Amino acid sequence: MQAFQLVAWQQPPQLREVPVPEPDAGEVLVKVGGAGACHSDLHLMDWPPGLMAFDPPFTLGHENAGWVERVGAGVRGVRPGDAVLVYGPWGCGRCAACRRSAENYCERQAEIAVMGGGLGRDGGMAEYELVPAERLLLPLGELDPREAAPLSDAALTPYHAIKRSLHKLVPGSSAVVIGAGGLGQMAIQLLGALAPARIVAVDVAPDKLAAAAEAGAEATVRADAPDAAEQVRAATRGRGAELVLDLVGGDATLALGARVARPEGDLTLVGLAGGTFPLSFFSQPYECAVATTYWGSAIELLEVIELARAGRIRAHVERYPLERAGEAYERLRAGRVEGRAVICPQG
Ligand SMILES: [Zn+2]
Ligand SMILES: [Zn+2]
Repeated sequence: MQAFQLVAWQQPPQLREVPVPEPDAGEVLVKVGGAGACHSDLHLMDWPPGLMAFDPPFTLGHENAGWVERVGAGVRGVRPGDAVLVYGPWGCGRCAACRRSAENYCERQAEIAVMGGGLGRDGGMAEYELVPAERLLLPLGELDPREAAPLSDAALTPYHAIKRSLHKLVPGSSAVVIGAGGLGQMAIQLLGALAPARIVAVDVAPDKLAAAAEAGAEATVRADAPDAAEQVRAATRGRGAELVLDLVGGDATLALGARVARPEGDLTLVGLAGGTFPLSFFSQPYECAVATTYWGSAIELLEVIELARAGRIRAHVERYPLERAGEAYERLRAGRVEGRAVICPQG
């Protein structure tokens, strides 16, 4: 079969011929319906050797959904033909974090080294993906895997980041979403579904801000405006935001986030742009908590699927055949993807 693989660090990925894997005991072979092209893959391609605990080659694609093709011995929870969403962070499955389904924070991550399919192990940008355990597959019901694939990262990541701050998002509160691309548009829909907060979207691109307004943002602010922080604060009635979600993570967005958060708020960094924030006593409002989050738990992913099945959230998907995966990433890098680019190996 064809697979879109990262072959070496800092080199463009390649479409290569690889054998179809055979599921061993406990494993499941998934026929890939959709594999999302994530912005974090662009960082992964650019990073130097030695930064990650794993090395290429491996098939890209850590945001996957499809249909069960074949199951290994002892697999009883899924059957061939089932539509499934692949939970992306693959932990040990046995530590305390994994037992509460938060494999994104597996205690044995350092020892396992690889982080999941598309992140050290072969991912979903191929006709088939081998998933090492049935616990990593969640039922999609009537949802189409090609449309649902982004739920496993583009929706789960902001869902987790928002859920931990939900108790602060009371009526009259504000949430600021910095970065209105695929993740940002999903974050805005999730905020609308989960909280009565006023939503403010920030981005440099006018078309992304238009999409943010359509997704439910009540105010939109150009990040490159000289008075961007004042505009955002005005949109929060001058009080600052209970939650600032930085989906970009550059120096400028972190600095903006600290200026528009309110005392006792949360400044939550999700984006991987690699910016830094010089923390000092006066660098952010009093008791404003600065935290990173990484992905989410499998139970949270079940909740995300419920929201999608109820029609409360929907990823805007641009479909690409596997042969055009390279082009999808080029468009993503150029900021020309509307919503989420999804590679559909079965057409
Ligand atoms: Zn991702
Ligand atoms: Zn674990």
